Amino acid sequence: MQRLAASRTKREWHEMASEDVIDAMNSHKNGLSSHEAAKRLSVYGPNRLPELPKTHPLYRFLKQFHNILIYVLLGSATMTAMLGHVADTFVILAVVIVNAAIGFIQEGKAEQAMHAIRHMLALKASVLREGGRHTVEGEKLVPGDIVLLEAGDKVPADLRLFQVNSLQIQEAILTGESVAVKKDTRAVAMNSALGDRVCMAYSGTLVTSGLGWGVVVATGADTEIGRISGMLSTIETLTTPLIRQMNVFARWLTALILLIAAVVLVYGYFVGNFSFSYMLMAVVGLSVAAIPEGLPAVLTITLAVGVQAMARRNVIVRRLPAIETLGAVSVICTDKTGTLTCNEMMAASVVTQAHAFSVDGMGYEPKGDIRLNARAVSKNEHAILDELGRVAVLCNDASLHHHDGVWVVVGDPMEGALLALTGKIGMDIQEELSGWMRTDVIPFDAKHRFMATLNHDHENHAFIAVKGAPEQIFLMCSQQRTGAGKSEAFNASDWHQQAEDIAAQGQRVLAFAVKSVPPDHTVLEFTDVKQDLTLIGVVGLIDPPRPEVIDAIAECQTAGIRVKMITGDHKGTAAAIAKQLHLQNPDKVLTGADLNAMDDDALAAAVIDTDIFARTSPEDKLRLVMALQSHGMTIAMTGDGVNDAPALKRADAGIAMGLKGSEAAKEAADLVLVDDNFASIVAAVREGRTVYDNIKKVISWTMPTSVGEALTIVVALLFGMTLPITPIQILWVNLITAITLGIALAFEPTEANTMSRPPRPRHEPLLNGELAWRIVFVSVLLLAGVFGMYAYAVDQAYSIELARTMALNALVVMEIFHLFFIRNIYGTSLKWELVAGTQVVWLTILCVTLAQFAMTYLSPLQMLFGTVAISFWDGVIIVVVGCVFFAILEIEKQLRLHLR
Ligand code: ADP
Ligand code: MG
Repeated sequence: MQRLAASRTKREWHEMASEDVIDAMNSHKNGLSSHEAAKRLSVYGPNRLPELPKTHPLYRFLKQFHNILIYVLLGSATMTAMLGHVADTFVILAVVIVNAAIGFIQEGKAEQAMHAIRHMLALKASVLREGGRHTVEGEKLVPGDIVLLEAGDKVPADLRLFQVNSLQIQEAILTGESVAVKKDTRAVAMNSALGDRVCMAYSGTLVTSGLGWGVVVATGADTEIGRISGMLSTIETLTTPLIRQMNVFARWLTALILLIAAVVLVYGYFVGNFSFSYMLMAVVGLSVAAIPEGLPAVLTITLAVGVQAMARRNVIVRRLPAIETLGAVSVICTDKTGTLTCNEMMAASVVTQAHAFSVDGMGYEPKGDIRLNARAVSKNEHAILDELGRVAVLCNDASLHHHDGVWVVVGDPMEGALLALTGKIGMDIQEELSGWMRTDVIPFDAKHRFMATLNHDHENHAFIAVKGAPEQIFLMCSQQRTGAGKSEAFNASDWHQQAEDIAAQGQRVLAFAVKSVPPDHTVLEFTDVKQDLTLIGVVGLIDPPRPEVIDAIAECQTAGIRVKMITGDHKGTAAAIAKQLHLQNPDKVLTGADLNAMDDDALAAAVIDTDIFARTSPEDKLRLVMALQSHGMTIAMTGDGVNDAPALKRADAGIAMGLKGSEAAKEAADLVLVDDNFASIVAAVREGRTVYDNIKKVISWTMPTSVGEALTIVVALLFGMTLPITPIQILWVNLITAITLGIALAFEPTEANTMSRPPRPRHEPLLNGELAWRIVFVSVLLLAGVFGMYAYAVDQAYSIELARTMALNALVVMEIFHLFFIRNIYGTSLKWELVAGTQVVWLTILCVTLAQFAMTYLSPLQMLFGTVAISFWDGVIIVVVGCVFFAILEIEKQLRLHLR
């Protein structure tokens, strides 16, 4: 009843006037007090969608058995039980249960890791509290909060809008309609559909352009999205195309093995004249040995290890297939500001019509000198500085704060640097802000590259303040300021030269202009700023390159990866920074205008050896990705703005910025960089290559092991010999080794030469000729080792039990050596640091060795498995067999590496 009442009132927000909604929420346009917000938070709870009910652990455990490989094993267990071979039944069941337990534990861990990682991407919201703008976690929003929406934001709660500025929101998540809706503040009819409620902004939808203010009317489970969240919350399973391909392969392999088993059964019974129950046991041993039942679990673990390794390197994987793609990346297209550079800006030069000033200072501290020819000057001597400072403060959304002795910026670092500059000019930022009221704004957009505000004071003055990319601003100017209140005709070529000169030093250039308007002018349109501006001056800002990026770029070069800078910044600035970073071809720069003049073919030809693209727009990024892809390259592309979403989606690995990136960009991306740092991308590529290598290693180790074990039985049966290893012993080997040793490979660290190889071709099949050859070669060697050992023992007139025990131990020793071999499949294994191995490797080898000793020397196990103790010298011979096996593998590898 109460719930019904609540939902009824809620449905009315869109038909009420916005003022009434704010009143009804007991709020105010200046926002709640933080005290009130805290109180409401404890009443309404966090603004979070209810968690999905977790699947019951028992269910998750049982799910491990739902696997065709396991069904076959269970079938085998039933058969052995019916034949009265209880011991075999127990061993098979032990295989099944250990396998399920490992899968259960590891999957649980992997899911937890994914969950924790997703939490790192928590949403932030801009709210007004006590009249000031704050950034808070989306979870802390309460009904009544006043929220600011900007292009690229994800709406953090359900809002009733009360002020909009060409606000458009894409509501596909709720309505399925992918065209953005233009928002308004007027109330709409009670029964209008969700998509028509233009005065509302719903949680989870994306702001595509404009600005808006709204009051929170519902949070958490009470939001529209919260009501249908049951429909949306699909949990991503830990899989990639490659793993899926492997699972399909494993299923076909099982079918093939069963077929072979059937043939062997028929052959042995009718041709070999073995008894049926003997044959059935042999065939069960064969099937269990050959089926790679541990493979799916180990591959999942390998992926999970990769995801966690990337998270440690500040890269969050949003879509798992990206891990595979990253390893194949051949071109990284990256932003400049904040990714290659520190994004710690400082104004360094100020140029006006008459003078070129230099600026001193440290960080964002609003103190320091403005110098003219090395002499500190004041705004009293140069009134034009005062006007420049006013534009810089009024056309600005950032604020500076003094915390524990350091000055920090809230907002865009460049705008923070401009505030610091005003302080250095000797102005009081707060005083400027309170003297003028911002009546309207055209926000900065990478498409038009400027920002403008309309400002009124208390004495009926009004003017437009504009700042932006110089080429853009110069087009809009007709006058230039010469001194206090005096102007002359605008000299474009002169100013372009000034801007070039500043850019050539690697500084970011920004131009400042004004325009007086009548006081009754209260709405700012694009046409208002298109012409007749008066230029005040230009400012150059330094943004030093990140020192670690120089190494990362060098690493890309040895790894065969091209790095391309795609920036909205000035050509000269881009080229200067590229030089400092040792990018290839720093002198060849194409601008957005150049790109527009090219058709797709010309562009495809030009992208190959141009590494710097300046003054580009987000649409250019999309064209560049497509041009590069037309050469069959695998592209990683970074982005931060709303308009970057199409390019991020189109790129093979779209990478969004975690710090300065918009929610829209993060949503479109496969990966998110927590620290916005280019070096993290390279670290992620390295991890991506490692994961792929490890998947390959797991498969290269498991397949020959299974095939070799199965062949041992098949060959013996075909030639009518006694089995050198009994079925129950094969089951043991399978249980103890396949699972433990295989897992060790999932944790393999990066090989030393991982980043000095060229990227792997994108669609390189995993099961290629080389792997097929490996499987045959190693299987045959294993077979030879086992039969050789067995023949030797028989030759020594040992009992058949001892001969089998020795053959069995030889098999396990060879598998351990095979593991060492696989670990360094790309180079030589004979280096001490490589032999040393990881902890996981040694731990599993220790386990396996102990288990082997136990089964060979402990009498209960001897009885179960039919083994007997081996003498010391025979033990040595077994290890020697392993060494020889290893030597042959290594020689074959070296031959192949050198003959290539
Ligand atoms: P980048 O690729 O370096 O991130 P942006 O697209 O952010 O480039 O910016 C392109 C240009 O737009 C900058 O060189 C600068 O001249 C101008 N610009 C950037 N931010 C603002 C802003 N907040 N206000 C006005 N102009 C800006
Ligand atoms: Mg930018």
